[in-house]
Amino acid sequence: MNVPFLDLARQVADLRPELERAVSEVLDGARFVGGEPLERFERAFADYCGAGHAVGVASGTDALEIALRAVGVEQGDEVVTAANTCIPTIAAIEGAGARPVLVDPDPTTYILNPGLLEEALTERTAAVVPVHLYGQCADMEEIVATARRHGLKVVEDAAQAHGAEYRGRRAGTLADAAAFSFYPTKNLGAMGDAGAVVTDDPDVAETARRLREYGERTRYESILHGRNSRLDTVQAAVLSAKLPHLDRWNSRRREVAALYAEALADIAVTLPVERPGSLHVYHLFVLRVGARETLRERLSQRGVDTLIHYPRAVHEHPAYASLARERGFPAAERLAREVVSLPCYPELSDDEALAVASAVRDSVLHQDGALT
Ligand SMILES: *Cc1c(COP(=O)(O)O)cnc(C)c1O
Repeated sequence: MNVPFLDLARQVADLRPELERAVSEVLDGARFVGGEPLERFERAFADYCGAGHAVGVASGTDALEIALRAVGVEQGDEVVTAANTCIPTIAAIEGAGARPVLVDPDPTTYILNPGLLEEALTERTAAVVPVHLYGQCADMEEIVATARRHGLKVVEDAAQAHGAEYRGRRAGTLADAAAFSFYPTKNLGAMGDAGAVVTDDPDVAETARRLREYGERTRYESILHGRNSRLDTVQAAVLSAKLPHLDRWNSRRREVAALYAEALADIAVTLPVERPGSLHVYHLFVLRVGARETLRERLSQRGVDTLIHYPRAVHEHPAYASLARERGFPAAERLAREVVSLPCYPELSDDEALAVASAVRDSVLHQDGALT
C-alpha cells in the first residue's frame, strides 16, 4: 500500500461542489479584493476562535509580522521565540524590524520552554512569540505571566494550531494577538496563500487593518508605514466554505494520532506528549527516533512517505548562523536530528493508518530487535 504524506486531492474531491460554488459567487460579484466574502470570513473565523477580531492578510508570515507591529514592536527591538520553529516565524520577526532571540524548546513537548524564557530577556526585548508547534499550544499561562512581569507583549504563532485548545480556550485568544496561516497544507487551508491576525484588542485589530493596506486610515490618507498584504476575496470565500468542516477534520486528525499512539506504544520510539488541559490538533504527528534515516528508508520501501519538521534548528541555517550562541541550543539541535513526521490528515483511512503503524513497528523492531 502506498500512503502519501498528504493528499489534498482527497479534500478537493470531498468538497468540490462547495468550493466551486464559493468561487463562482466571487465571479458573480466581480469584486476580487475586500467585500462581503472577506468580512464574512473574518467574522466567522474570529467567532470560531472565540476572539473579537480577525484581520485577513496575504500569508501566515505576514500575519505574524503585522501582528508584531500592531502590538508595538519596533525597529531594533528583540523578539524571543523557539529555536526549533520554522523559518517563517523568524522572517516575520525580522520583517517587523526586530532581532529574533532564540530559546531552547521543552524536550518532551517540543514547544517553547517557559523556564528558559527569563534568561533570554534583555532591556531591548519587546515581545515573545510562542509557536504552537505541530498543533499543540505552548504553555501560555507561564509564558504570559513571565511576559507581563517584564512588560512584554505576547503574539501566538498559531499557524499550526487552528482549533487547538489550552485550558478550554482556543489558540488565537491566549495572548495579545495571534497569527494564523491558511497555507494549503495547514489544518484550515486556502487555495493558495492566506493568513489572519486574530485579537481581542480593537486597537490592535485596527492597526493591523491599516498596516495591511498602506497604513491608510481612510482612502489615500496613510498614517502608518504600511504595505500591501490583503486576503483575496476568492480565498476568503474558499475559507468560509471550509471552516464548517474544521472541527470534524481536527477530530479525525486526533483519531489517527490515537491509533498511532496505541499501535506504537511498546516500541522504541518517542511519541508526542499531549499535556493535560491541552487539546492537540495534530497538524503534524511527530515521532522521535535515534536511527531516523534508517527508519525513513524502511518506511519508504514499504510505500510510506514521511517528512522532517524540521531538519535544522533555526541557528543551523546558513542565513541565521548569527543567532547561534556558544553553548548552542541542545534540545533544538537534538530534535532536528531525531524528529520524523508520519502521514496524519483527516482523509487518511483507518486501513492506511494501520498500514503506516505496522510499517513503523516492523521497521523499528527489525532495527532494535526488542520491545521496550
Ligand atoms: C506555515 C507557518 C508559518 C508561515 O505561514 P505562511 O502562510 O506559509 O507564510 C509560520 N509559522 C509556522 C509555525 C508555520 O507552520
